[in-house]
Amino acid sequence: MKHILTVDDSPTVRTSVEFALKGLGHAVLHAENGKDALEKYNEVKNKGETVSLCLVDVNMPVMDGITFVKEFRQIDKFTPIVMLTTESSDAKIEEGRQAGASGWMVKPFSPEELVKIVSKFVR
Ligand SMILES: [Mg+2]
Repeated sequence: MKHILTVDDSPTVRTSVEFALKGLGHAVLHAENGKDALEKYNEVKNKGETVSLCLVDVNMPVMDGITFVKEFRQIDKFTPIVMLTTESSDAKIEEGRQAGASGWMVKPFSPEELVKIVSKFVR
């Protein structure tokens, strides 16, 4: 089983991500912050399954998106991470890139826009 991890403190965003990506043949796994996402990632790995992509908000309680990217890159160098966030400042985007993010998309997004960017990273 392949998983796409949607990491956002807004359940509404996570649900719309899941809905938009329905047709792609991946299970969409929800995490509400960076720490929760690291735990979900480990659970997937422990089952011998794969996380194909992480879609990550920036502003979240407990562990924010940039911290998540830094921590995640310690344990997984290659799985693509797309930041999905209302943050659009060049400085923030650059900070994400430096941390190891692979792409950046500004919310709100249409289902078509999301499928387009996800399809670039996942097959
Ligand atoms: Mg947020």
